[in-house]
Amino acid sequence: GRTYLITGAASGIGKATASHLRQQGHTVIGADLQGADISADLATPEGRAELVDHAHELTAGRLDAVVACAGLAQFTPATVQVNYFGVVATLEGLRPLLAAGTDPRAVLISSVTSVHPHDTAIVDAALSGDEEATVAAAQAAIDRGEGYAIYPSSKAALARWLRRTAVTDDWAAAGIPLNGVAPGTVVTPMTEGMLADAGIRKVVDASVPMRLHGHARPEQIAPLPAWLASPENSHVTGQVVFIDGGAEAVLRGDST
Ligand code: NAD
Repeated sequence: GRTYLITGAASGIGKATASHLRQQGHTVIGADLQGADISADLATPEGRAELVDHAHELTAGRLDAVVACAGLAQFTPATVQVNYFGVVATLEGLRPLLAAGTDPRAVLISSVTSVHPHDTAIVDAALSGDEEATVAAAQAAIDRGEGYAIYPSSKAALARWLRRTAVTDDWAAAGIPLNGVAPGTVVTPMTEGMLADAGIRKVVDASVPMRLHGHARPEQIAPLPAWLASPENSHVTGQVVFIDGGAEAVLRGDST
């Protein structure tokens, strides 16, 4: 069996992906704020360093795959700190362990909101790697009453980071596919509040052509990151695969 490290493993999509991989006979090291093998706060540089330290201790320096699921969807600067800086630090920090693994793979969880309108100040600051400036841009959005833009901006920045990074020598030339999965609405604690609001649910559901299948359960997402992180995936890299009932296809429309 392979050894996987999954962040956000205590809940939702991360938990379902961990179960899916364990059922296939693999070893999964879970990380989360609490309730997993590794406790680490990915909103902070100290917590990100702790994740990497604990991963070294638990693996003797080798991992076969990493699935970065930890995420936050609040109108706070912490949302971009976890969703962008936490994910980038997870993948960059664990890359040396992947380089020592067998058929190494990495996957992050994006979102259909990555192609929604976003705040370019937040996206540009994140991509420049300046966390302080990114937090300031997020706070400025909140002050304008646009805190809702933080989440899509964090996911848009992450998608651009992914495409830039996957093709570099550290990843592509080292034979480590790096991909993203972008779900639409998934029934997890993250979306509980949104789905309980009939008005919001109506607007969100109206953007999904394949309504017949309902809202995805995390178990219906898990096989996709699991496959992207498996040795069977030899040539998919630098991609964000949308698993959203067709919502992204509508938004992208005729643009290539
Ligand atoms: P969830 O809230 O069930 O799980 C997220 C997990 O991340 C939680 O266990 C939480 O403790 C952890 N986390 C949050 N902040 C953290 C921090 N600072 N340090 C460490 N761990 C932290 O939500 P989910 O729906 O399973 O979300 C998983 C991923 O999927 C997220 O990246 C989310 O943005 C993305 N996503 C979710 C949906 C959806 O509809 N649920 C849609 C698109 C994308």
